Amino acid sequence: MIFAWVLLAATSLAFADEQAGVQFSLGASVASSPSGSGSDISFRDDPEQRTYQNVEEPYTLDFNYHNYDQMTTFLRQTSAKFPSLTALYSIGKSVQGRDLWVMVVSASPYEHMIGKPDVKYIGNIHGNEAVSRELLLHLIHYLITGYSTDPYVRWLLENTRIHIMPSMNPDGFEVSKEGACEGGQGRYNALGFDLNRNFPDYFKQNNRRTQPETKAVKEWVSKIQFVLSGSLHGGALVASYPFDNTPNSRICRSSALCSLFQSYASAPSLTPDDDVFKHLSLTYSTNHAKMSKGVACKPSASGFQRGITNGAAWYPLTGGMQDYNYVWYGCMEVTLEISCCKFPSARELPRYWEDNKLALIKFLAEAHRGVHGFVMDENGNPIEKAALKIKTRDAGFKSTKYGEFWRILLPGVYKLEVYADGYVPREVEFMVVAEHPTLLNVTMHPAKVGSRKDGPFYRPGGLPQQPLYHHGPVSQQQQAQESGLFSSISSGFNNLVTNIFG
Ligand SMILES: [Zn+2]
Repeated sequence: MIFAWVLLAATSLAFADEQAGVQFSLGASVASSPSGSGSDISFRDDPEQRTYQNVEEPYTLDFNYHNYDQMTTFLRQTSAKFPSLTALYSIGKSVQGRDLWVMVVSASPYEHMIGKPDVKYIGNIHGNEAVSRELLLHLIHYLITGYSTDPYVRWLLENTRIHIMPSMNPDGFEVSKEGACEGGQGRYNALGFDLNRNFPDYFKQNNRRTQPETKAVKEWVSKIQFVLSGSLHGGALVASYPFDNTPNSRICRSSALCSLFQSYASAPSLTPDDDVFKHLSLTYSTNHAKMSKGVACKPSASGFQRGITNGAAWYPLTGGMQDYNYVWYGCMEVTLEISCCKFPSARELPRYWEDNKLALIKFLAEAHRGVHGFVMDENGNPIEKAALKIKTRDAGFKSTKYGEFWRILLPGVYKLEVYADGYVPREVEFMVVAEHPTLLNVTMHPAKVGSRKDGPFYRPGGLPQQPLYHHGPVSQQQQAQESGLFSSISSGFNNLVTNIFG
């Protein structure tokens, strides 16, 4: 199974001379990328890293809350001990100067695997929602130790780069209190900003000043094309999917009665990929020990049916991270609320880990569902920043510098629209089946002189400053001028690839 997948990607395009072009060395800060999107992350040497090399002790992680220094030590020890499976980098610093650590866990930690997806988890966005921070450290430990013993984990790491950020709000965590199930102490960053209200918003203008933590995440997601993402929170037990915001006028701000009022006032705000988002959310909730049972956190509250909800239907918010990921970069992000108590006693952490372990793993594998492939010219060279969208789903996405694209889709027949500057637009029909992803390579032909070059999703100067989401139907004139079937649906793999999902 593993080899079939490798072969599938490796034979899809000849990139003999194409290396990732990424310089990594063990350690620290993300160097800025001159060319913006398309380039991956580069690493600078981290002198402190050397302290942890030649660590001989057994690799263990206790069920306790780890403050910033303890977390940093664990991450550095991990990257020193497992250099072939992990890479540690920082995407920037918090207001108080703490590193925003990300650990890649993958069979190719330092280099993007061409044709294979990058995925991410971000935890502890609200500093007092502490469970995810610890569970993500345990996930790192679990993936590394499972690589040699668990065929599923091995397959996942050989076909996926998993970027794990245990804490987006390390400053908030440091002033939070263990045992505080509710309340706001530590929720915000050191300047008092809610990081999950701090992103650009598609529906409403967000005038809040961009915080260093938010800025770092924005730069990060502009450099790596993440296919799938989980944004982890606490204080509820539900998987909540985009949109978080709604074009409707906001009725309620943040008073104490707000959530009660909104439970009556809120309406769903659904994306064109609602079927996919529901599926992703259900993947988490049904693989979680309790979430899909829809049990309410408090006797006075109502539970969520099957443990999922549309974000805006729960309560609308402006400046959330999941809408930003989806609208700006085509990354499918779901908000995972994994504990009724925001900061439970450390004694309860083993139970939380057992409740979430399978869900955390199964969710990531969903990056391999749907369609993926390469956009290339007639000579087989990759076309970067081609604008793509699934017909009738007005949410666009882009090809990477290797011409790669991914889109998570449920089984069915679809049409892919492809636009690239200087090429005749294409419309390609393809099929998605449940058992394995569809490989779809699209060759673009040069536009004749004088013909229209720009499709509806092409933007001069390139993205990612503009959202990729578009309201309303595409006009006739904007539609693909030439359509044709170029569908290289991967077939014959049924007998090689077992169902990796479920
Ligand atoms: Zn939260």
